[in-house]
Amino acid sequence: MSELLSRHRAVLPSWMPLYYESPLEITGGKGSRVTDADGRSYLDFFTGIATNILGYGVDEVREAVQAQVATGVAHTSTLYLIRHQVELAEQIAELSGIPDAKVFFTNSGTEANETALLLATYARGSDEVLALRGGYHGRSFGTVAVTGNSAWKNSSLSPLNVHYLHGTDHAAPAFRHMTEREYIDACVADLCDVLDTTAPNVACLIAEPVQGVNGFAMPPDGLLGAYKEILDEHGILMISDEVQTGWGRTGTSFFGIGNHGVTPEAMTFAKGLGNGFTIGGVVARGDLMDALPAMGVATFGGNPVSTAAARATLRYVLDHDLQSNALRQGSTILDGLLALRELPAVKDVRGKGLMFAVEMADPVTGAPSPALAGQALEAARERGLLVGKGGIKGNVLRMAPAMTLSDADAAEGRDLLLETVRAVDAGAA
Ligand code: PLP
Repeated sequence: MSELLSRHRAVLPSWMPLYYESPLEITGGKGSRVTDADGRSYLDFFTGIATNILGYGVDEVREAVQAQVATGVAHTSTLYLIRHQVELAEQIAELSGIPDAKVFFTNSGTEANETALLLATYARGSDEVLALRGGYHGRSFGTVAVTGNSAWKNSSLSPLNVHYLHGTDHAAPAFRHMTEREYIDACVADLCDVLDTTAPNVACLIAEPVQGVNGFAMPPDGLLGAYKEILDEHGILMISDEVQTGWGRTGTSFFGIGNHGVTPEAMTFAKGLGNGFTIGGVVARGDLMDALPAMGVATFGGNPVSTAAARATLRYVLDHDLQSNALRQGSTILDGLLALRELPAVKDVRGKGLMFAVEMADPVTGAPSPALAGQALEAARERGLLVGKGGIKGNVLRMAPAMTLSDADAAEGRDLLLETVRAVDAGAA
């Protein structure tokens, strides 16, 4: 065990996951490549769980942060005016498409979702919430309550009365025989039934347009829109958790919910917005935001350094039309990876823009195989490629490269993945 690893184990919680039998210390990065403490270079197809949307060592972000730090004011508090914060809020409010939107900045996705749940439950005077099975929204009491998989819950003491809906896994045995349209209809019928029979006074639905931690499980386009029609009839609010899907990553829409043809009442964001610098937030209808009494401050939320980084990141995303790059590179990679579907150890290959996944299964029983996914993670690393792992059963390889991904890096990553999964499949036979 390395010296740093044994010190990590001694003072950090045992439940904090570390990738790899021999965990990596990443000490440098440029573009889509990172370097570890031993000087080995990797092509990074996971980018710190989709946080480095522009990749590493981006001059524009570094210069914006350095300029702010050079003023001598890293932060005072949000009790004073902060120019970057106001300008970033203006931009996000406009991009959101939410009428009369207002923005509240936090330090993480968890806090962003917690705030959105507070807004919605307060506005509707109800603690009843709908969430999707398989969803992940954070690690606080409220967000754990709406997390739709017991393996990721660290508490069962829920402050909310949560009802879980189907809404992603079209491939589940109960739905596999259905067309997408039939699946959407079945999900909507299920929602109506829940509202009629078990949850008469629901405040909101919180949903990820593509479920990140759940291995990029994707509801058919339009499902959340079909849900919203029913929700609107009941005055129920929709919160779209865009922590992984925001800023054009899905390629076909700037926010993931756009793929469903609707605008929600609130969206939450974090991860990629600061390209590695800490920032999260909620953008919501102004009346909902203003109605919440005495929320006060999030001491570091919207601080000048994070908002400077976020302004530079967002400017880069828009100026370089990275949404189009996500669509183009994602489609090319997915087209190549679809060949893996024929392998006995592969259960599914799917993707939307620069979020794509390969689901591993036992070649004999067809059961989800976290062991094969673990082998593939290690095997990819040996070939110089970093990928992620996820899914309720832990059997999904998930990839979220930088949205600046070049043609050459996209082709190299795709080929390394093909090679890795084929080798793992051959070994499993
Ligand atoms: N929502 C989604 C969709 C996420 O993927 C995550 C984190 O992985 C969160 C919320 C929580 O964000 P954070 O870890 O910044 O608190």
